[in-house]
Amino acid sequence: MIKKFYPQGKSKAFNVSYDDGVLQDKELIDILNKYGIKGTFNLNSALMKQEFAWFHECGMVVKRLSDRLIRDVYKGHEIASHTLNHPYMDHLSAEEILHEMAADRDNLQALSGTEISGFAVPFDHYSDLIRECAKIAGFEYVRTSKLSGSYTPPEDVYNWQAGIFHLSAELESFVDGFLDTDEELALCQIAGHSYDLDAERIWERIETLFAKVAADESVWFATHIELVRYLKAMGKAVVTDKYIHNTSDRELWFEIDGQTKSLQSGEELWMK
Ligand SMILES: [Zn+2]
Repeated sequence: MIKKFYPQGKSKAFNVSYDDGVLQDKELIDILNKYGIKGTFNLNSALMKQEFAWFHECGMVVKRLSDRLIRDVYKGHEIASHTLNHPYMDHLSAEEILHEMAADRDNLQALSGTEISGFAVPFDHYSDLIRECAKIAGFEYVRTSKLSGSYTPPEDVYNWQAGIFHLSAELESFVDGFLDTDEELALCQIAGHSYDLDAERIWERIETLFAKVAADESVWFATHIELVRYLKAMGKAVVTDKYIHNTSDRELWFEIDGQTKSLQSGEELWMK
């Protein structure tokens, strides 16, 4: 019996994906670092000045994190593009969409000193045009604002839905179900905005949840791009009941008759 695993022989993967690049990201990252959890932060480089503030519906002022702090604050986590200006993209031409994507990526690469390979759609305006523009711009995945409610990694990386929103009343039961599931390559990805944690006063609630997931040794903590690249490599492997051929360019992990085993790039394995 062969089961596909994540790196280091982990059966499950966990990621948090937070949008907009606001002040509260710093406090959130302190908590993620405490528990070894990897986040993906989707930033609007043209708006990352603290003068771009807005009123939350609860009355709180939400402030952007200064772009000068990007390199330090997000160190060790993934930064992805969320467009330059957070526009309503359904009003934009292909040229304007490509500019919002590519210029944001270039800014973020310069500000962070890291490679930017992912794109998260602002608001809820995913379309085929956005999908095609993201491919042309060279992004490796597009996270939409829709939610899958599932532990199955999306098949289409250019129409990627996170599992659940962090303000959902079902958040704890969703995570408990994830920790209990035997599904192959199970994934729990939580999406949100860190200012919600202040507005809804749920810092303790989210930290309790992260501590629970972090205590489970079967979980791989990955950024979104690490997930996409590993799953893509796994998709290239030839896996039958009796045979595995790792035709990808990276090490892949499996459980074979209860034993954890990894195969290097190019390696084959026949079952007895
Ligand atoms: Zn946003």
